[in-house]
Amino acid sequence: MFQKMLIDGKMVSAEDTIDVINPATEKVFATVPKGTTEHINSAVAAAKKAFPAWAARPEWERQEIVAKMAQAVEDNADALARILTQEQGKPLPEALGEMAWSQGYMGHYATLSVTGRTIQDDDDFDIRMRRVPLGVVAGICPWNFPLLVPLWKIGPALVAGNTVVIKPAPTTPVTILRYLEICNEFLPAGVINVVTDENDLGPVLTAHPDVAKVSFTGSTATGKKIMASSSGSLKRVTLELGGNDPSIVMPDVDIPETAASLYGGAFLNAGQVCLAVKRAYVHEDIYDDMCEALGKIADAAIVGDGLEQGVTMGPIQNKAQYEKLKVLLAAAKKDGKIVSGGLVEDKAGYFIRPTIVRDVTDGDEIVDLEQFGPILPVIKYKNTNDVLERANNSDYGLGASVWSKDIAAATQLAERIQSGSVWVNQHINIGPHIPMAGFKSSGIGVEQSAEGFEEYTQVQVLNIAK
Ligand code: NAD
Repeated sequence: MFQKMLIDGKMVSAEDTIDVINPATEKVFATVPKGTTEHINSAVAAAKKAFPAWAARPEWERQEIVAKMAQAVEDNADALARILTQEQGKPLPEALGEMAWSQGYMGHYATLSVTGRTIQDDDDFDIRMRRVPLGVVAGICPWNFPLLVPLWKIGPALVAGNTVVIKPAPTTPVTILRYLEICNEFLPAGVINVVTDENDLGPVLTAHPDVAKVSFTGSTATGKKIMASSSGSLKRVTLELGGNDPSIVMPDVDIPETAASLYGGAFLNAGQVCLAVKRAYVHEDIYDDMCEALGKIADAAIVGDGLEQGVTMGPIQNKAQYEKLKVLLAAAKKDGKIVSGGLVEDKAGYFIRPTIVRDVTDGDEIVDLEQFGPILPVIKYKNTNDVLERANNSDYGLGASVWSKDIAAATQLAERIQSGSVWVNQHINIGPHIPMAGFKSSGIGVEQSAEGFEEYTQVQVLNIAK
């Protein structure tokens, strides 16, 4: 399968190509163009040229195009999901889940509307605040949700009147390219462009003087570089970065029920989710039972090629992440005790079974670092103030959860956790209407909701003397 880039309404090749590896087989399953600086320049020029006409269209027309994009996900969900599983690794039902999310988010964005307000209207002055689009938005994306994350940027950017250049992650470019090829039948030229790279063109895009805003999802280290390179032309930035999400489990919970929900929150997409549970703090009274319950669920997982029926967990998406996780797994084995899981060594593919590690604590690498993979450390705690301090003792602050039958007590504790999203008796309940933000090194700005939508606009005041 060869999949071209979309620039200025045309499907474009390049002199060189990039092989895309299926992480379940370690074999090449597709090739894409290896974009160049010239492609970035053409894509930004096309987006800049398309911007005035796009911004001048009535809002309902922009909403209608985004609604058509939602429909295009639905109409092509089966074929796109198969591509997604092959490039990303997630089991086909999870890939179809990403299709359903993508369609739902785009459907919601199609209902968004730019709002303004009257500040003063009297005999002397008519003062109004309105919101106008920014111009060209660069969307830089990671490899864990190769369709959903680009759409998180494209949807609100387009409805607000901006045009877009997307740069997918180098290891997962195929689904978004194929999807935009489908949408190109009804998209005006230049409104969405996508350039693929070998991890070298991000800085070119973020330093480009004609890019007005960068919306980035990825690691904290890259986020810092993007902020620095955006400073040249004072670009707006939204950064959705890493996390080391703590879950605090109080002693009164129903153990099997909570174990099942915690497992789901930790191991979705083989743990490669920014908001996944990354550290589970469990009260000492139920520690052994909870470790055992989690271990049993992990033992039942069927790990393999996501295209095979019955598989519940796919491989790690890429070799670099797999190698990083192998090092963390070795450290976890040294520092604690593996209840369930470990490497899958007898077949090709970047497979790690869902792994539960007990008897580890703060200061151990598997607890302190963001693993971004299927290894969950379970940490014992004695009292609430102590566990709160340990949960907050992180540079990150993306997600967190508290689990208890006493919802009031859990909510009081949740309010004291320094994270952008704190759930009670659940983990990862997100939606296009719910703001998503990070404390500390987990990000800057907001995605989703009215607040996230506003980040794709510029405030302007019209101040009229009567
Ligand atoms: P990454 O930061 O290495 O790469 C993300 C994207 O940035 C890729 O497209 C990459 O090519 C590009 N990039 C790399 N260097 C760049 C530079 N100097 N300038 C501009 N762009 C550059 O992250 P990753 O390894 O793809 O993703 C994993 C990380 O992303 C994890 O840390 C995870 O927590 C985080 N993540 C966060 C969220 C969120 O919403 N907060 C979602 C998914 C992933």
